[in-house]
Amino acid sequence: MKVIDNKITFSFDGSNSYVEKVKDNETVVFITRDCFNDQLTEEGTTIGTLDWNCINPATGPVYVEGATTNDTLKVEILKIELGDTGVMCALPGAGLLGPKVKEESIKRIKVKDGKVYFNDDITFDVTPMVGVIGVAPKEGSISNGSPGVHGGNMDNKRIKEGATVYFPIFHEGALFSLGDIHAAMGDGEIMVSGVEINAKVTVKISVLKDVQIETPIVENDEIIGVVYSDKEIEKAIYNAVDITNEIVSDKLGISYNEAGMLLSAVGDVQICQVVNPEKTVMMSVPKSILKSVI
Ligand code: CA
Ligand code: ZN
Repeated sequence: MKVIDNKITFSFDGSNSYVEKVKDNETVVFITRDCFNDQLTEEGTTIGTLDWNCINPATGPVYVEGATTNDTLKVEILKIELGDTGVMCALPGAGLLGPKVKEESIKRIKVKDGKVYFNDDITFDVTPMVGVIGVAPKEGSISNGSPGVHGGNMDNKRIKEGATVYFPIFHEGALFSLGDIHAAMGDGEIMVSGVEINAKVTVKISVLKDVQIETPIVENDEIIGVVYSDKEIEKAIYNAVDITNEIVSDKLGISYNEAGMLLSAVGDVQICQVVNPEKTVMMSVPKSILKSVI
């Protein structure tokens, strides 16, 4: 099995050189560092010693053979194996509560046997997920801190083991990378960090020929979800819902109005994160209604 290790990038960019070529339908392992580039896992390190130019590393990018701009990239998240130390922080000015945070706090958290040991009293189950995942965007360079229609820092907790994520392709080979694994994160990621942790992520990458989508789509056993990001959360919601409505109308052969009423009855607007430069939401439709996205 192909293992991609020690090859990181801090941006999604069509001019980045790929670190490895992978085949259509290949299973690939990505060894990922945490969002602080593993700079804070050692006791004694502080936010003050952090090199801010080296945060949000993603492992890759890989060039997917056969992927063209007429196609869609399909990424199945087969397995997420976590490291043993998670890091969280609270920073003045950062996240929803930042304005009331007077001084920084940093927390190293033991993660073992499926549990997060948050403090002496509080323990909870891990809910491993992928924060940063995507392809090179149509134009320019997008920092791994930002999400968009190329994917990126979506911080969508439903991107976890068993989920499949579909991406539009803007460059030959797609230039796919992933990183920023969280041992746990709640919807919103209100303090700007999940339980940030290094990991080993196994995915299967395939190319769906002659299929085009506008924005990332997540699928699991229960739902199909259209993901959209915008600086204004209202715009992110509108676009996620509108794109979903068009898909439902098209796939089920019903009018836009009929699809809208259906989504109003059974669809869920879900918040992924509200703390990155662009906020991310997902519009979910049960698979009992919409069986397939492609
Ligand atoms: Ca993130
Ligand atoms: Zn993160």
